[in-house]
Amino acid sequence: MIIWCDHKNLSYFRAARRLTPRQSRWNLFLSQFDISITHKPGKDIPSADSLSRRPDYGTEPDEERTLLPNTLFIGRIDVNLHNRIKESQATDQFANTILRAKTLNIPSPFKFSLDDWTTDSDLLLFRKCIYIPDNKDLKQQILHLFHDLPSFGHPGIFKTTSLIRQHYWWPGLTIFVKNFINGCAACQQMKINTHPTTPPLTPIPANLSTLPFQSVSIDFITDLPLSNSFDSLMVIVDHDSSKGIVLCPCNKTIDALGTALLYHQNVYCRFGLPKHIISDQGPQFASHIFQTLCSRLSIKSKLSTAYHPQTDGQMEQHVEVWLEATHLHFPNRSRKLSPKREGPFTIKQVLSPLNYRLTLPKAWQIHPVFHASLLTPFAETDSYGPSFTQPLPDLIDGHEEFKIEAIISHSGNGKRHKYLIKWKGYPSSANEWLKEANFENAPEILNNYKTLHFL
Ligand SMILES: [Zn+2]
Repeated sequence: MIIWCDHKNLSYFRAARRLTPRQSRWNLFLSQFDISITHKPGKDIPSADSLSRRPDYGTEPDEERTLLPNTLFIGRIDVNLHNRIKESQATDQFANTILRAKTLNIPSPFKFSLDDWTTDSDLLLFRKCIYIPDNKDLKQQILHLFHDLPSFGHPGIFKTTSLIRQHYWWPGLTIFVKNFINGCAACQQMKINTHPTTPPLTPIPANLSTLPFQSVSIDFITDLPLSNSFDSLMVIVDHDSSKGIVLCPCNKTIDALGTALLYHQNVYCRFGLPKHIISDQGPQFASHIFQTLCSRLSIKSKLSTAYHPQTDGQMEQHVEVWLEATHLHFPNRSRKLSPKREGPFTIKQVLSPLNYRLTLPKAWQIHPVFHASLLTPFAETDSYGPSFTQPLPDLIDGHEEFKIEAIISHSGNGKRHKYLIKWKGYPSSANEWLKEANFENAPEILNNYKTLHFL
């Protein structure tokens, strides 16, 4: 079949070319046909076009249609906001000074030129951006518009600043944005921490003048495969002098007395009594029997957690912290989409510079002591204002009712389903498990959740 064509660009493909994936697909399609293409200038084949321009091919324009309806656009210009800016500018001393200087045509009283300042629709502009007077409420409203709205999704400091700079300007804009974002609870809870501050390791300093096994650390490796009916190893390391190690097979159930006997048989007979014993705060050492044994043998027992001299102190100044969600398991909840940390929680007790006891929700039923590496300080800044509004409950039929923001996960079967809910205006530390009967006044939220999770 011969194809006459006035499309000269096709001749480009007459030479060997590196094809794009799309061109390769066309090549595969065309390879099915036995064709040869001949170029003929358009003026020589006017009849060709008439074939593709038949009236019944519907080239007549349809009725008018809107390709991009208004619903697709986010109304960036907020009329109320602009009115507020106008009112604020009218009473702003700085704006009035600029305007007066411009009207009277006197030299600029400030370091920048008056040419940078213009007016448009009664608004004062600086380099084509609307000037925002020193009004915290107004600045916060703009920040909420460009940072908090779901369509923006909490961009970082640089991105938020550049988005605002396209429309607005005020002196110290970047610093305000930085403080605002540092105080944004959603950012603190959801964003991956790219600069985690790991608490420093707290090495126990060695006394170099000691003899072998004068200062020893005792530890246990447990749950090993059974061997000669032993399942654990007692590890005794010479801490200061030789770093030598003595391993004694034992059982996981070993108590303080057993530990002392093993030490006596395996170490004492070779190296004598140690001056110091370092160990983690385990049941063996905390036990009264071992303490008695130590005192009888006049051994000073030092528990290593109480022996860490280096203090971090970073967390101690804070009252509330975020808890990393790494080791927290909530049923039926997507790991990827759930917050990176939970909280903020109150620090109930500082056990050591590295260990903190938190006040957790009762329903969690987990040990409330955490290492400092799992905690980050909760920040509230003046620019952002309070993170959680904690609204007062509504009164429904004489009962106090808090508003449910969302259901986060569920557990249980059938009628015994329980739902973890987040209260509106409250942090995730106030989340609670509710039974289905508790959703009397919020059936919509429950039904939507059930449909989504096929319950
Ligand atoms: Zn944010």
